[in-house]
Amino acid sequence: MKIRVLGSSGSEVAGHRAPAFLVDEESLLDAGTIGLSLKIREEHKLRRIFLTHAHFDHIKGIPFMLDNLVSRGTGNTVTVISGREVIRDLKTNIFNDRIWPDFTKIPSPDRPALQYRTVSASREERFDGYRVIMAKVNHTVPAYGIILIGPKGEGIAYTGDTGPTDRFWKKVDEYGVNHLIAESSFPNRLEELALKTGHLTPALLQQEIAKMKNPPRCIYLMHAKPQYFPEIEKEIRGLARNSIRYLQEGEVLSI
Ligand SMILES: [Zn+2]
Ligand SMILES: [Zn+2]
Repeated sequence: MKIRVLGSSGSEVAGHRAPAFLVDEESLLDAGTIGLSLKIREEHKLRRIFLTHAHFDHIKGIPFMLDNLVSRGTGNTVTVISGREVIRDLKTNIFNDRIWPDFTKIPSPDRPALQYRTVSASREERFDGYRVIMAKVNHTVPAYGIILIGPKGEGIAYTGDTGPTDRFWKKVDEYGVNHLIAESSFPNRLEELALKTGHLTPALLQQEIAKMKNPPRCIYLMHAKPQYFPEIEKEIRGLARNSIRYLQEGEVLSI
């Protein structure tokens, strides 16, 4: 499985893009950044988007991507996959023919640019050879961690945005996933703010990792608020785990 980091930041400023991870060219884990990082022909290869939650920094690329596909007449349909509440939020608050067009009817209802697929938490689903497990995490809105297992059995777990949580770590343990993309948004001194906003600090993340019997071998971090990045990175280095580091935008993980 090849995972390309299109964005891994907790906000957007020059040099920092919102979270999105391209898996084997056709799937996305979250969609904060699409057209800003992909070439046109790469955008045309997208088939499905797994969404952790509907916060703007995780969906921001979708409206422009759909607009691009339709105006270029590609005939593609992209499936957005998530839990019931997340899909409902997109329908009601974004693709509602007010904020942005309802692309489930464009260019035509039988061949739309967008379709939704609701999956239930904790039940394994299959999409073209990939197994997908979603488990609720602890954020300020309904949000899911995602485990994606590729055709050769290789797996990646992705927390999306979360504060301290349990169910997701149980699933990661149960599936024996070796690679984890986790969030760490704030430095340790802002723990109270992190907890209030459903996020983690390096110290909180360490406690989360300790909840697993067999934590993933390689742990990659994302979602630092850009202004705290140097501070968080220093605290991460202080955790004394050599398999933990921040992701770089543009890098490709081969797992
Ligand atoms: Zn969020
Ligand atoms: Zn976020």
